[in-house]
Amino acid sequence: MSMVEVSLPDGSSHEIASGVSAGEVIKDAFGRGAVAAIINGEPCDLSTPIEESCTLDQINSDSDEGLHVLRHSCAHLLAQAVTELHPGAKPTIGPPIEHGFYYDFEMEPLSEEGLREIEKKMKYLVKQNLKISREEHDGESLRQMFADNQFKIEIMDDKLDDGAGSSVYRQGEFVDLCRGPHVPSTSYLRHFKLTSTSTAFWRADSGREHLVRIYGMCYATKEDLQARERLLREAALRDHRKLGKDLQLFHIDEMVGQGLVLWTPRGSVVRQELQNFIGEHLRRQGYSQVFTPHIGKLDLYRTSGHFPYYQDSQYPPLVERDLMAKLSDDGCSCSELSNLMEEGEIDGYLLKPMNCPHHIRIYNSQPHSYRDLPLRLAEFGTVYRWEQSGEISGLTRVRGFTQDDAHLFVTEDQIADEVLGCIELVQVIFGVLGMDDYRVRVGLREDDSSKYVGESAKWDKAEEACRSAAASLGVPFTEEKGEAAFYGPKIDFVVRDVLGREWQLGTVQVDYNLPERFDLEYAGADGEMHRPVMIHRAPFGSMERFCGVLIEHFAGKFPTWLSPTQVHILTISEKHIDYANEVSKELKLLGIRVEVDDSDNTIGKKIRTHRKMQPSYMLVLGDEEASSRTVSIRNRAGDQVQGVPLDNFMANLLAEIETRDAEQKLVPPQE
Ligand SMILES: [Zn+2]
Ligand SMILES: [Zn+2]
Repeated sequence: MSMVEVSLPDGSSHEIASGVSAGEVIKDAFGRGAVAAIINGEPCDLSTPIEESCTLDQINSDSDEGLHVLRHSCAHLLAQAVTELHPGAKPTIGPPIEHGFYYDFEMEPLSEEGLREIEKKMKYLVKQNLKISREEHDGESLRQMFADNQFKIEIMDDKLDDGAGSSVYRQGEFVDLCRGPHVPSTSYLRHFKLTSTSTAFWRADSGREHLVRIYGMCYATKEDLQARERLLREAALRDHRKLGKDLQLFHIDEMVGQGLVLWTPRGSVVRQELQNFIGEHLRRQGYSQVFTPHIGKLDLYRTSGHFPYYQDSQYPPLVERDLMAKLSDDGCSCSELSNLMEEGEIDGYLLKPMNCPHHIRIYNSQPHSYRDLPLRLAEFGTVYRWEQSGEISGLTRVRGFTQDDAHLFVTEDQIADEVLGCIELVQVIFGVLGMDDYRVRVGLREDDSSKYVGESAKWDKAEEACRSAAASLGVPFTEEKGEAAFYGPKIDFVVRDVLGREWQLGTVQVDYNLPERFDLEYAGADGEMHRPVMIHRAPFGSMERFCGVLIEHFAGKFPTWLSPTQVHILTISEKHIDYANEVSKELKLLGIRVEVDDSDNTIGKKIRTHRKMQPSYMLVLGDEEASSRTVSIRNRAGDQVQGVPLDNFMANLLAEIETRDAEQKLVPPQE
C-alpha cells in the first residue's frame, strides 16, 4: 500500500494510505463539523480520495464558505423535491444567497400549500440520508443526460467549450450539472425553511421564459435559523406597507398610478412635521428656500445631460399638442418622433428627474461675486423617475418622490466646511430621531482617473474634504475606491434600524461637471471670473423613503411631536361630553392634534379601538375629572395616572413636543 503525506494548517504532517478520503482525515484531525474540504487550496467534497501528497484544510459549517456549501446543497435538495413532486418542472439555476438559497424552475405557479408540500418532501429526503455523489461526464453524455432540459443545455452551450465535459452531482434519482462542492449526504441539511415564491425570467430577460423562483433560508444551527425567523416575524409586523394601511398614513391607488404616493391626512402630518424640523435647521445653517416647477424644457436637460442619456429611467417627454398634430399630419412615426426629440429638432417638456438644473438657473439669474458664496438653495423638490413596475414597493421604491434637496454653490476653498455642514445636519436629525446606528461611505475615484471630469488636484482636495468630514462624525466610515460619480466624490449615509437591517438613505456629492455644462461663474476677489463648485445634498434621499424607514424604525409608534394624533379624549358617559369638548378646545388652541370619542361605547371598547391608531396619550374623562378639572392619562405602554391637573398635563405635553422628546412622560398628580 503506498503512503502519501498530508500537511495540515497547524503545520503538522501526516502519513496516510493513498486513497483515504479527505473527510476521514479531517474527522481524525479536527473532529466533526466539516461540510467540505480544501485540497491544495481548492474546495472539494469530503469524499474526495487523497492520492498524492497535499495540503488539506476543512470548510466548517459555521464559516462563510461552509454556509455557502450548505445553502448550495439545500438548493439541490429543493430541486430534487420539486422534480419528484412535479415531474414536468424543469430546474434552471439555483445559487446560494445571503441567508439561504433559491432555485428557478419552469413550472406552474405554486400556492402556499404547494410550497409547504415541497418543504415536507425536502425533510423526508433528509431523513432518507441520501448519498450526494460527484460524477464526471464528457460533453456528449451530459447532453444526453439533460436532453429534456433546454435550460441546462443552454448553460452548457455557454459555459463549456465544444465537447468539454463537466461534473454532475447525483442524489437519489436527481442529478444536476454542478461544480460543487456539496455536503456528503442529505442528512447534513437540517436547519432550513422555504420562505416564499416569486416570478422570474430565464436569464433575467423579460423576453424569455417565465420561471417560478422558490426562496429558502438555511443556517448551520437551529438557533441561527430561529433567530432569523424571529427577525422576519418582527420585520413583518413593522412592514411600513402594512402599518401605512393600518394607521392610515398613505395610500397607493392603481387609478392614480403605480409608485405614486398619496399622502393621507395622518401621514401628511408626519411628513410636514419632519419638513418643519429639517427646515428649522436649514435656516440656522443659512440656506435659502426656493420653489421650482415640476417640469422643465427638454433643452434644459440636454444641457444638464439628463436627456436623452437617462431616458429609460424617466417618464416620456410632453410634446405640445399642435406640434404633435402637425407631425402626425406629416406622417411622422413614433420612432421618428423620438429621434427628432433626441436630436433636438423638437422641443417639449420633461417631468423633472432632478432639481439641480432648476436651481442652477436660479443661480444664473443674477451675476455673483465671491461675497455671495456659499449660496445654498434648498427645496423639498418633487422629482419623477420611471422605475420598472416589478421594482416598485411601498414608500421605498416609487415613481414620484420629494427630495430634501439642496444645492450649494461654493468656491474651491469652501468645499470642506460646507460638506461638514451637510454632515452635521444629518447628525442632528439622526440624533433626534434616535437613529444612532449609522455608518458613512466615502466614494472616491478609482486609480484610472481618465473617466472623471475636473482636474486631478481639485479632486484630491475634494476627496480629502469628504474624508475628513466623515472622520469628524465619530461614526464608522469606509472609503470606497471607484464609488465616486464621474463628476465628483460623494458621501452616503447607511442607517441600521432596530432589527439590524441597513437602509441606504441620501448622499452629499461634490460636482465639477454641472457648473461647467451651465457655464457658471462668479467674480473673484482678484477681479477675475471663476467657476464655482456645486454640492448636491439630500441627506434623507426622499421624504417617501425616509418616512418608510421611520415607520418601520418606530413600528408606527412615533414620538409625540411626529404623531399623527397626539391625544385621544375618551368620555366615560355622555355626562362628560361638555368637559371633553372643553379639554379638546384648550389643547387645539395650543396646536395639539386631538380627537374626541364621545360615542356611547364602553370605555374598555374605546380604549381598545383607539389604541390601534397609536395616539401618544389617551385621556379618560369621567365624573372625578370633570369636577376637579383634571385628566386621567394613559400612555402607549398602557401605564396610567389619574387626577393630573389639566394645566399640568398641557404644560408637560407642550414641553415634550417642543423639545422633540422621544420619550413619553406621564405626569404624576400634584400633591
Ligand atoms: Zn449546484
Ligand atoms: Zn442635484
